[in-house]
Amino acid sequence: MVETSVREYVSQHDAMGELPLITQSAEVTDVERMDEDRRPEVTGVINHWLEATDLDDDYGPVSGPDDWAGLSAQVAEAGDPELGRQIATLTERYERPKPMLVRARFEPDIDFLAGQYVGLTYNDVPRAYSIANSPIEDELEICVRRVPGGKLSPQLCDELDVGDTLTVRGPYGELVLQDRSPRDMVFLATGTGVAPFKGMIDYLFETGRDEFAGEKRDIWLFLGTAWLDDLPYREAFRERQREHDNFHFVPCLSREPILSDWDGESDYVQHALLKHTDERAVTAPIGKRLERWIREGPDSDVTARLDPTNMDVYACGINAMVFSLVRAVERLGVPPERIESEGFG
Ligand SMILES: Cc1cc2nc3c(=O)[nH]c(=O)nc-3n(C[C@H](O)[C@H](O)[C@H](O)COP(=O)(O)OP(=O)(O)OC[C@H]3O[C@@H](n4cnc5c(N)ncnc54)[C@H](O)[C@@H]3O)c2cc1C
Repeated sequence: MVETSVREYVSQHDAMGELPLITQSAEVTDVERMDEDRRPEVTGVINHWLEATDLDDDYGPVSGPDDWAGLSAQVAEAGDPELGRQIATLTERYERPKPMLVRARFEPDIDFLAGQYVGLTYNDVPRAYSIANSPIEDELEICVRRVPGGKLSPQLCDELDVGDTLTVRGPYGELVLQDRSPRDMVFLATGTGVAPFKGMIDYLFETGRDEFAGEKRDIWLFLGTAWLDDLPYREAFRERQREHDNFHFVPCLSREPILSDWDGESDYVQHALLKHTDERAVTAPIGKRLERWIREGPDSDVTARLDPTNMDVYACGINAMVFSLVRAVERLGVPPERIESEGFG
């Protein structure tokens, strides 16, 4: 356990009211682009498919989207609509702007609680960003996903650099850790919705809050994105999983199996959650559609199982996804007072 410069509150909710609201300029100390250029992989996969289906006589080998114009539709018309859809998905991946995901650190002197967010102004455009690190650290970290055509996120992805100045206002937000309890903790996120949970999970382990009365609690993170390299902080979470056998990281990658040999979860986060739930612990009538997922069993290599009667849940991401996540958890029988959530609009 490390010494904390942050006061140990019995309740993070009580602590929220005591924090001063601060506006100040902050200097950027670190910027990292987090996703990868996977265009060579995409080209390789498409050429491989064309070869395997003898379509390369007509179409290949291809070297980029100029060669792929119409390929997806033609493959579909030739009798393989699924392959046509996959080529369209890969073309989209090839053509997407780079980078899509960036993390940045800056140096203001702001007290905050793990999970809160700040208002950040850059080039006169203000937006909200969750704080992705633990309050024990002196700096603030944010993690931004580009919204193509958006006013601020493309600027942060393309232009933000060490030495730049931002204005930071905060902290804000009520998505903070619930009071200590003996229950397990389950974090459900899509995309950069994981940012507040990165701060909370770091804080839990740094302060020993992953234990209650000397007993370890299981800490789960289900994180959904399309591609492997869209997973923010994937290496940090894997490292934490290696170090702590009570931390279970379950990435749910909807599109990755098209591009690589990914054989982990590729279902929606709420379905992966059900696949990791202990069937015997579910007493609520959840309906046939959800039961199917529980019976299916996981594709991850996590052997622990969830008990809905014994867990505190946190959900974050874009609004519609958070709504589905919360609904699935409620159907499992988790009482509303054990569910905290925040949507990104
Ligand atoms: C409490 C809170 C915390 C947030 N934390 C983060 C964070 O940690 N990381 C992060 O990247 N963003 C976060 N956001 C979203 C962020 O504030 C901006 O909305 C986002 O970066 C887009 O800003 P923009 O100026 O580029 O787009 P805008 O010009 O504001 O918007 C363009 C359009 O995109 C929509 N949009 C906004 N966000 C998304 C999204 N994520 N996906 C798809 N469409 C979207 C908007 O509704 C709008 O219609 C958070 C929002 C809130 C309210």
